[in-house]
Amino acid sequence: MSNFEHNLKKYADLLVRVGNNVQPGSRLMLQATLDDDPTIRRLVHYAVEAAYKAGASFVKVDWRDEMLTKIRLENAPDESFDLTDEFYFHARKTITEEGGNIMFMIGGDPDLLAGQDQDKIARMKKATGKLFRPISLLNDQGYGTWTIGAISMKVWADKMLPDVPEDERVEKLWDLIFKVCRVDLDDPVTAWREHAANLKARADYLSKKQYEKITFSAPGTSLTVGMPDNHVWIGGGESNNKNVEYMPNIPTEEVFSMPHKYRVNGTVRASKPLNYGGTLIDKFSITFKEGKIVDFTAEKGADALQKLIDLDEGARFLGEVALAPSSSPIAQTGRLFYETLFDENAANHLAIGAPYRTNIKGGPEMTDEQFYAAGGNDSITHVDFMIGSTEMNVNGVTKDGQIEPIMRGGDWAFDIS
Ligand code: ZN
Ligand code: ZN
Repeated sequence: MSNFEHNLKKYADLLVRVGNNVQPGSRLMLQATLDDDPTIRRLVHYAVEAAYKAGASFVKVDWRDEMLTKIRLENAPDESFDLTDEFYFHARKTITEEGGNIMFMIGGDPDLLAGQDQDKIARMKKATGKLFRPISLLNDQGYGTWTIGAISMKVWADKMLPDVPEDERVEKLWDLIFKVCRVDLDDPVTAWREHAANLKARADYLSKKQYEKITFSAPGTSLTVGMPDNHVWIGGGESNNKNVEYMPNIPTEEVFSMPHKYRVNGTVRASKPLNYGGTLIDKFSITFKEGKIVDFTAEKGADALQKLIDLDEGARFLGEVALAPSSSPIAQTGRLFYETLFDENAANHLAIGAPYRTNIKGGPEMTDEQFYAAGGNDSITHVDFMIGSTEMNVNGVTKDGQIEPIMRGGDWAFDIS
């Protein structure tokens, strides 16, 4: 077996064992982006094999052809755009409720939907967001496990690596994926468990601190993020209601929590472009007042950003504040991936829209009213955008007004022992 093939197998194994942490007797639904490249079929086959070896009772593979969305946008009658894939919804809800596993292997063309009708895209997102929201809430309550990994595809590699000779791009992107996912190490599974323990220690430190506010400063950014009482920082994966530890994202480098819906003030400048559903939003700044987005500017994709914040009331407020150091392997590549899974793990970020209810103590058990009263936002969307850079400093402000360093120059400024 070639070195590449060996890594492909190790990667599949990592996604199944550390990502989903498939348990004996559970079902796995594996959703993979379809491509002509046979490598991707082999990766999926390795993952299916690994899942059965881990004891999965049944693996359902769901190939996703992203061109179908484009064909629909260009050809379907108007009423189509308020509909969504209910067949898929029912399958996913069933697997989640029974405590099964969902895996997403994502890839594709970051510019697929560039130039398409933003209204139609927004309606499709709204229809999907509304129907699928209960599944996110089930995940927050600890049902099942889910994980996202990525696959190298030509359309993606072409966008991301124009400086690399064309026939080497797909391989180069695989190299990058293997590297930032630590697949090139001898024992990636153990390496991930250690890495996860480190992130957990950072998250626990911050949770214990219970900072009243987190402040971000960088060129173009002066932002205060007020934190709700009893907020919880999470990093290095989650555990479900059967105490199975799993990793929603591979790779992951972030430690994240929930801002108080009404206590975010100031202006933040994005440090990387945001690929929102196939449209690139670039060089943008957002201003918040008492949590609400009251102004923004964008040199590129302003229309898409407007559509995003108009999706619903909660899309004008934040749902996540996350810290990811600029020393992370992803940041070290110096590459923009045009894919949130990677880019959000290379920089501090915020998310517009819904929070994870696990980010507040007792959150998953709260009624909606209790959760909103505690400072939680609600939305059908959750979109991360990057704000971190090596020029960013982050402080924590304690309840008695002490200012403590969290990050300096984009890197952690506190020790964990
Ligand atoms: Zn995040
Ligand atoms: Zn997020």
